[in-house]
Amino acid sequence: MSWKENVRQVEPYTPGEQPKDQNVIKLNTNENPYGPSDKVKNYALDFDLLRKYPDPAASDLVNALADYHHVDPAQVFVGVGSDDVLAMAFLTFFNSGHPILFPDISYSFYPVWAELYKIPFKTPALTEDFRIEPSDYLAENGGVVFPNPNAPTARLLPLDAVEKIVAGNPDVVVIVDEAYIDFAPEGSSALSLVDKYENLLVVRTFSKSRSMAGLRIGYAIGQKDLIACMQAVKYSFNSYTMNRPSILYGCASVADDEYFRSTVGKIVATREWFSEELKKLGFLVIPSAANFVFASHSTVPAEEIFREARDHGIFFRYFKQPRIDNYLRITIGTDEEMKAVVSFLLDILHKK
Ligand code: PMP
Repeated sequence: MSWKENVRQVEPYTPGEQPKDQNVIKLNTNENPYGPSDKVKNYALDFDLLRKYPDPAASDLVNALADYHHVDPAQVFVGVGSDDVLAMAFLTFFNSGHPILFPDISYSFYPVWAELYKIPFKTPALTEDFRIEPSDYLAENGGVVFPNPNAPTARLLPLDAVEKIVAGNPDVVVIVDEAYIDFAPEGSSALSLVDKYENLLVVRTFSKSRSMAGLRIGYAIGQKDLIACMQAVKYSFNSYTMNRPSILYGCASVADDEYFRSTVGKIVATREWFSEELKKLGFLVIPSAANFVFASHSTVPAEEIFREARDHGIFFRYFKQPRIDNYLRITIGTDEEMKAVVSFLLDILHKK
């Protein structure tokens, strides 16, 4: 008998590469190329306060988010990035023993949490053109989770289809992971359904549209009972999940809506331009509602482009996985970065 026999066996999630060299064009982890708002940058942090524990309820941030989204503070749960919020939600809600459902191609952390918590799961296949088919999620299950827009495909599931999944699963919790929803057309978010469905949890992040991946802020909105269940689990795990700087800077970010809207607008405009350029270069581009595109070249293998780009200091994300191993996921950077990408691609594709 050895302690090794009793170790929890996990195959961890592999995050995108974080190169040390800051001079590369880094388009592999869907970060925002623009810095946080000036309201965040100019906020003077009182370092003396760091000797004290933060507010365990992170009330300032919870209240700011509740105001912003016109919900009650008791409907808001905050955590250390949406990864933390999602991990808590899996632990809180997926305990029936029935398999939970998420798409075969989606956020690769879902199967990792499921394995970690020993939650059985099934992965209905996206259609050939990477659409979620709502009827696949109406069979008996222990819960449902999917990103909308989906990652890494960038495709948006229309709100009526999201509602079909939520309405068709009244006995389990449906988590809609809206990490990228701010880049989708207005009216796409499932937040508008929260009052109607007690089984709906919508998860958001400050890492993409709010340019604050380095601070680690995520949140969930749902009806009060759902949020209270998550709070109970959180307080059984770690009371002080949100540190003081995150709470303060998070509030400052929420207060600057104008900056938020203008940077999101810029990224959407760059995405539309870049998608057209890719098509001219012979790529198939999945219509994107996110801050990245998912594209496949008609003749040159994605893995080859990925490697050559990396050698040139341009980082894309490549998944060596069935069905998507000929696709590149490319984050939308600044106009200058994306112009450099287009000229790099033009160059290498010409040589093939
Ligand atoms: N959900 C999806 C679909 C994502 O792509 C990511 C980013 N890796 C996350 C959640 C987690 O983001 P964060 O923890 O930075 O909020």
